[in-house]
Amino acid sequence: MHHFHYQDGELYAEDVPVRQIARKIGTPFYLYSTATLKRHYQVFDEAFSGLPHLICYSVKANSNLAVLRLFAKEGSGADIVSGGELYRALKAGLSPKKIVFSGVGKTPREMREALKAGILMFNVESLGELKTLAQVAKKMGKVAPVAVRINPDVDPKTHPYISTGLKKNKFGLDLETALEAYLFAKEHPHLEIVGVDCHIGSQLTEISPFVEALKRIKAFVNRLKEYDIQIKYIDLGGGLGIVYGEESPPPPREYAQALKQELSGLDVTLILEPGRVLVGNAGILVTKVLYFKETPAKKFLIVDAAMNDLLRPAFYQAYHEIIPVLSKERPKITVDVVGPICETGDFFARDRELPMLRPGELLAIMSAGAYGFVMSSNYNSRPRPPEVMVNGKDFYVVRKRENYARLIAGEKIPPFLEK
Ligand SMILES: *Cc1c(COP(=O)(O)O)cnc(C)c1O
Repeated sequence: MHHFHYQDGELYAEDVPVRQIARKIGTPFYLYSTATLKRHYQVFDEAFSGLPHLICYSVKANSNLAVLRLFAKEGSGADIVSGGELYRALKAGLSPKKIVFSGVGKTPREMREALKAGILMFNVESLGELKTLAQVAKKMGKVAPVAVRINPDVDPKTHPYISTGLKKNKFGLDLETALEAYLFAKEHPHLEIVGVDCHIGSQLTEISPFVEALKRIKAFVNRLKEYDIQIKYIDLGGGLGIVYGEESPPPPREYAQALKQELSGLDVTLILEPGRVLVGNAGILVTKVLYFKETPAKKFLIVDAAMNDLLRPAFYQAYHEIIPVLSKERPKITVDVVGPICETGDFFARDRELPMLRPGELLAIMSAGAYGFVMSSNYNSRPRPPEVMVNGKDFYVVRKRENYARLIAGEKIPPFLEK
């Protein structure tokens, strides 16, 4: 469900013609729909009604301040993975009491920043990290609230680059080592055990791996009770998939129902860290056709966006639907949609059937709201595109287009090269 639709043959974002935004700010640009973001949050939240729960939006999926503020106003917390994300989350007005800190490589500095802010919990991923956190907390005279991320060894059946809950992945701790971590934390005056955490992967299109992970967490929580360790929070991470093409992920209601059933009778608050499912289909990348190129082997549409703007196709062989901004009848051709970057991996679609578009026409790359702008770079010295947010009839640039000066900001010629 999203608010990008055709009206009188042209693509609108809510009540704004996409063409109008392109005329005003140029291409390429990211475009987010406020109504879609709100709806996704509310549907997800309502699905868990009746169960004590906290939604901690996964900031890494889309960390624009405006997006974070919108979720803060909906009541969301945040799942962060770096000091930079903590900085953003606080700037956007997210409550530190609703922030959980994930990630395998938190630095002492990041730990200090998070302790100072007073976050809800650290999702600790190794014994080394736990010991460092204890030392940092001790130095600050604070008590760090912790959960240990366990690796439940379940197969999320998703792309290998985005599965995280298998034994061989770098994430979390096996149950034996996790128990050791809990026993260490229990005895340490500067650590307070508050939860158990896991996150098994991203873009999951089945419920069963989540349920399996939750079963294993439950068994583990019971084992902790034998050691007189009580848990307040079970954090099941994020990972619910969305429709990019042919997938049929479960709707949040079904996902929630399955988890509720599994949790009944347990006196815990469930924490969820959805990212993609909240923002993925709430954003598009708008790009312009520069050239049509035909070789003996192939036809190409060369567009003005590239893999530096949206990395997912190059990185994960991800599928994104691509639609013309003007929907008029045209003959169909089979093309590769590619960007200007000097890499064969710089493509948005291969052998895709699209209407015959002319240079100057606009295309929308759909479902680009998650892991889109946040993964962008300046590769090939391309200024990153702006981010725009539509709200009903209005639109706002929520991050301006980078300029050339910004590309070299911070660079310096050393004195020995000056002359
Ligand atoms: C990436 C990530 C998420 C969000 O995953 P989605 O698939 O976008 O929902 C949640 N928790 C952790 C720990 C993550 O690394």
